Amino acid sequence: MASTEPPESRRHTVELVNSRGCSARISSVGAALLSLRVPDLAGELRDVVLGYESVQDYLEDPYYLGSVVGRYAGRIAQATFTLDGVRYQLNRNSAPHHLHGGSVGFSRHTWSLEQPSPSVAHLRRLSPDGEEGYPGALEVSVRYTLTDDNALRIEYQAVTDKPTVINLTNHAYFNLEGHAAGSIHDHRLQLFSDKVADLDEDAIPTGALVSLAGSPLDFTSPAAVGDRMGVDGIDHAWILAGGDTQLETPVACLEAPISGIRLEVFTDQTAVQVYTSNFLPQGLPGKNHCQYGPHQGICLETQRLPNSPNVVHFPSTELRPGQVYQSATVYRFSVSKS
Ligand code: BGC
Repeated sequence: MASTEPPESRRHTVELVNSRGCSARISSVGAALLSLRVPDLAGELRDVVLGYESVQDYLEDPYYLGSVVGRYAGRIAQATFTLDGVRYQLNRNSAPHHLHGGSVGFSRHTWSLEQPSPSVAHLRRLSPDGEEGYPGALEVSVRYTLTDDNALRIEYQAVTDKPTVINLTNHAYFNLEGHAAGSIHDHRLQLFSDKVADLDEDAIPTGALVSLAGSPLDFTSPAAVGDRMGVDGIDHAWILAGGDTQLETPVACLEAPISGIRLEVFTDQTAVQVYTSNFLPQGLPGKNHCQYGPHQGICLETQRLPNSPNVVHFPSTELRPGQVYQSATVYRFSVSKS
């Protein structure tokens, strides 16, 4: 198949604005969210997502800062799955497993990027049949909308020409005190579920779902992340109800004590991977010449469960010709005086 990759000259960014002064910068590289400026308690805008200085940095980013992750977010055990009796071998980029779509997953490609209106960015790419081992040519699009209620809405859509699997998410690292403010230990997190996917020693879901009620990771009542995450940090998929109605009630809330910025997450997805940037290296160069390190951002990655193609009782991640994959997540910002 001929390359569908836009040339280097197509690497560019657009800035989305809403009527209340918020802004978001989106890049064609990785379909990444480079910055997101929302008001704090004093009405000053703070950039609440970690990012790199240059768009070029995203092409080789092993940490997925703000990028769209695909074709399959999360781990797939032994980098293999069977669909319709055919066994597919994926790239073992997290040997012996597959992680976040492979060595050159969606986050490392240049997408076509248009800005149909001041508050909307529309990105598209064709993931060829066989890319990173996945079957089927997949036409995928992502639409970011910065709405006037200070929310960033992300809508994903995809169609395939052969049966395949798909699991898309955005890997933004939030720091609601501001991207360069340091630790997220004081952020208060609330999750409207106490159930997670049980993990084996390689962080692959075993297939069991376990309740965390009464344990340190029970966030059904708001709690400071640093009081609960232990030395290793958090890296688990919480189970959600899923479905369109879930776009009306939050699945997660995060609040920063000094800025007063509050983030509510709404999604139709069936899981949210909460990841406290445990593997960000100390001194990682970021925007405006700042440096990041472990536990300086928190990802709330709405998605299907990792390893679903190998666990029959997990919600299906299959996509077949004629079907349309559709999913939406909303990150809504406000301020709270408590
Ligand atoms: C995963 C982590 C992984 C990280 C890589 C997260 O989504 O949950 O296990 O190490 O991405 O940046």
